[in-house]
Amino acid sequence: MTDIPRLHPRYASLVAREKIVVGINKGLTSQQGLIAQGRGECFDYFVGEKTTASAQEATKIAAAMLLTAGQAVISVNGNVAALAASEVADLANSLDIPLEVNLFHRSEERVKKIADHLRAAGAKKVIGETPNAKIPGLEHARALATKGGIYDADAVLIPLEDGDRCEALLAMGKKVIAIDLNPFSRTAQKATVSIVDNLLRAIPNLAAQVKELSTKPRPVLEELVGQYDNKEILAAAVREIQSHFDKEAAK
Ligand code: ATP
Ligand code: MG
Repeated sequence: MTDIPRLHPRYASLVAREKIVVGINKGLTSQQGLIAQGRGECFDYFVGEKTTASAQEATKIAAAMLLTAGQAVISVNGNVAALAASEVADLANSLDIPLEVNLFHRSEERVKKIADHLRAAGAKKVIGETPNAKIPGLEHARALATKGGIYDADAVLIPLEDGDRCEALLAMGKKVIAIDLNPFSRTAQKATVSIVDNLLRAIPNLAAQVKELSTKPRPVLEELVGQYDNKEILAAAVREIQSHFDKEAAK
């Protein structure tokens, strides 16, 4: 990795970019991943590069949803593998659920590299190398999924996912938790729970919430999930961006 000065004001974002570049060089991440990261960074500016109150609330609900799911799974693409492999591995291990490699620009070689990378990062259950089912409504490679994973899970965490695939999972009756910095994206608009936060902050935060809520009785968690309104959370995320803009304009 290129040496990035720790005191640089954009340190965290420069490190993230560098991780994506390393991911591309290792064959984990697609070149399109660079553009996705750039779009995310833009929205990170808008939210003030911090976890907002609405993102914190969505993360708590997501934790309750993962803890109460019959079968949950975390979908991993090339950007997630490059940015947060050990973080998603820790989260999946703590919930005893699989990580499923699931690529928009699928190549068998890249799936294998990501799966190996996740195992090297400590993940105990990694699937996706031998898909044996198809998500209805998607064309060939994008439809591939695994039984015991995304195909039959009732809750799917999709950190950074395309809107179409998010919709196709919802159409199968699943609960979908998205991590997406853009509250206007189709993914964020459609998901059951949208965490409008940077993946780098959201995954450790989600792991901490899972730990905290894991001692709560099931009815308490079900109540949290039951009263949740994603439209309200997205509206709050937009209001937070608006008030951030207002503060900047008043400077
Ligand atoms: P759609 O409307 O289909 O959902 P999109 O604008 O979300 O389209 P994608 O190809 O899904 O387009 O783009 C990736 C999404 O991931 C963007 O919305 C971007 O804001 C988000 N994103 C990228 N990097 C990060 C990150 N590190 N943390 C959180 N979100 C990110
Ligand atoms: Mg999207």
